[in-house]
Amino acid sequence: MGRGPRGDDAVIDLGPVGRLDDALVAELRQRLPPGPLHLVLVGGGTLNDLGKLIAAERGCTLSLVATCASMNGWLSSNASVVRAGNKLSVEAKSPEFVVLDDDLLRSAPMRLTAAGVADALAGAFALRDWELAACAGDPSFDAVVCDAVARSLEPLTRALDGTSFSVDSMHSALIEALLTGGLAMNAARSSAPASGGEHLVAHAIDLREFAAHERPSLHGFAVAIGCLLVAALWEIMDEVAFTAPTAITPSSRIDALCTWLPPMAHASAAIVDKKCAREATTLAAANVWERATNTPAVPSVATLRARLLRAEVPTRAASLGLDEAFLMGALASARDLRDRYTVFDLAFALGVLPVHSARVIERSGLLDHV
Ligand SMILES: [Zn+2]
Repeated sequence: MGRGPRGDDAVIDLGPVGRLDDALVAELRQRLPPGPLHLVLVGGGTLNDLGKLIAAERGCTLSLVATCASMNGWLSSNASVVRAGNKLSVEAKSPEFVVLDDDLLRSAPMRLTAAGVADALAGAFALRDWELAACAGDPSFDAVVCDAVARSLEPLTRALDGTSFSVDSMHSALIEALLTGGLAMNAARSSAPASGGEHLVAHAIDLREFAAHERPSLHGFAVAIGCLLVAALWEIMDEVAFTAPTAITPSSRIDALCTWLPPMAHASAAIVDKKCAREATTLAAANVWERATNTPAVPSVATLRARLLRAEVPTRAASLGLDEAFLMGALASARDLRDRYTVFDLAFALGVLPVHSARVIERSGLLDHV
């Protein structure tokens, strides 16, 4: 950085921030000086997203100085913001400069690094969902981007799977994977390369905590819950016979979503309507399944759990205050949180959900006590 703040620099300390909502945006907006601006944000993921929103609003340049490797959004132009009770990924502004100082990132608390590992590992599931979404008409799919993200995950999984594991050996692989995930979202102009069904579960956890005025869990820890659930769903889909889908009316879907996640009440009908319209035109589920099975393998529950535990990521639902009812709700309704095709949609189309929900939860190990 070369120098500290000068007399004409405005230094604003926002203190510890919880989640990014319009109140936090308004606070920074009000405290910033008028006139031309170069915004430098020093902090973690929430502050990074805040900077992207304000930079988009002011049309100014933006530098991020990352203080931890807890998520993959450094380079992306998306920002996650809570609006009217719902968590949205909105288009903001990519930073012109990102400062990733190895020593600074390594000195972050381990739990923040652990959260980054979980967010990066979600990439394997997100990529497969992106392939499924392509079958369902998502035009953002890009095989080159998909391949780049998959390859960026290999050093990280090798480090986590190795016999001589150390946090240091994992760190540079983690930063590489997180950077690539962010670049992929920019290249695809969509969060799809790094955010699939597992992130829907994470969004639900965040909304639930928001509604209960609870302190937010680390994003990566919520993503890890989603990853374990999705890994279990892929395993069960591989084992059971497919049947005709269970008939569920749109109004039942809306009711189930609102019961599971009351903050979605105002948005549920519009999303379910869109999903139902899309389902009528989506390719036969058997074709989507065939495409999925031709993509690189996703990790098994056992492999995923071992990787998460090595990085000190919690693998039990209770660690985040979640119970069986939440997980059942996730399997029933996570597909209706966003108008995007994921493994949850495929599982319903193949008759695996909701029939085998209990088996999926059992396989995930999320409710195990040991
Ligand atoms: Zn994420």
